[in-house]
Amino acid sequence: MNFSKLVETLSEYTPNKENLPIRLDKNESPFDIPIEIKREIFEILLKEKWNRYPNVSAEPLKNALAQIHNVSPENIIIGNGSDEILSVLLKIFNGDHAITTPPTFSMYDHYIRMDSIKNVKIFLDKNNFKLPTERIIAKTNRHTKAVFISNPNNPTGNGFPEEDIRKIINTGVPVVIDEAYIEFSKRKSFISEAVNRENVIVLRTFSKAFSLAGIRVGYAISNKPIIERLHKVKSPFSVNRLSMQIAIYLLGQDKIIKNNIRKIIQNREILLQKLPKEITYKSETNFILVHANAFSFLKKKGILVRNLNGILKNHVRITVGNKAENEVIINAFEEFIKR
Ligand code: PMP
Repeated sequence: MNFSKLVETLSEYTPNKENLPIRLDKNESPFDIPIEIKREIFEILLKEKWNRYPNVSAEPLKNALAQIHNVSPENIIIGNGSDEILSVLLKIFNGDHAITTPPTFSMYDHYIRMDSIKNVKIFLDKNNFKLPTERIIAKTNRHTKAVFISNPNNPTGNGFPEEDIRKIINTGVPVVIDEAYIEFSKRKSFISEAVNRENVIVLRTFSKAFSLAGIRVGYAISNKPIIERLHKVKSPFSVNRLSMQIAIYLLGQDKIIKNNIRKIIQNREILLQKLPKEITYKSETNFILVHANAFSFLKKKGILVRNLNGILKNHVRITVGNKAENEVIINAFEEFIKR
């Protein structure tokens, strides 16, 4: 077998069966880490002991994050993507149901099903995607394992008022606040509540603003007892030495990361300006929701976006790409509308 050929193919591989040239379907960053930075990181990776298991609780990365967020390392658990934390979260709580607010991140429903409990769905308000706070609160009781809130929300792109989330926290049931896209918004993070309250878990990821979707690092912040319980149910060595070092290095590259965030926000606003107002929704994330049955049309043009269904039938979610990708999308929509 030609292994070098295989390695080459693998490096090109992303999970996109169609192999379309423009991929705006997974809310990834359009900006890969610059090659000079990758080289510097590789010097560090060369010094890592590949024969040794990684630090069991990802201590070095926790220490770096603790400084940045002004919390204790004991308030943090690192996962193989925030998805890994989501996959074990329900194991640490008792109850017979969890509450979600569709349309929202589909993995909440997936892990609720895996846990064999009921998903109590309280839909976001139809026209403006506001949080139905009072209806959520009315459904909470001592059998609620958790309430999942994506803030800002995937796939609608909007964030929720601090006051609404605070009211839900005050019910006392476990509240998971998924801040995967918070770097692209002006919303306040709930990290301090996560540390100081008994029932709040904040999820964060390196996959979006930090351009590390392929490296798989995410984390949760909460009070120490919850973090301890999470450590007991999580696979011990799930975050490898290399990913950990890459994440630590990028935490020190504030300028690059902030610049990328600024460019993504700028491109998002250009997209919203250029696409017809009647079909777009404001966004506080690195994607926009568009009310158009445009999936197949865009696919024919070589552009892959996320096709939505259910109450978001005839909508697509478009990840904000780089400048060139932005122009392709804008031109494609001009054609789509004229059709
Ligand atoms: N939460 C939300 C709201 C997301 O959209 C995603 C990824 N699409 C994740 C969590 C998972 O991110 P990760 O890559 O850290 O597993």
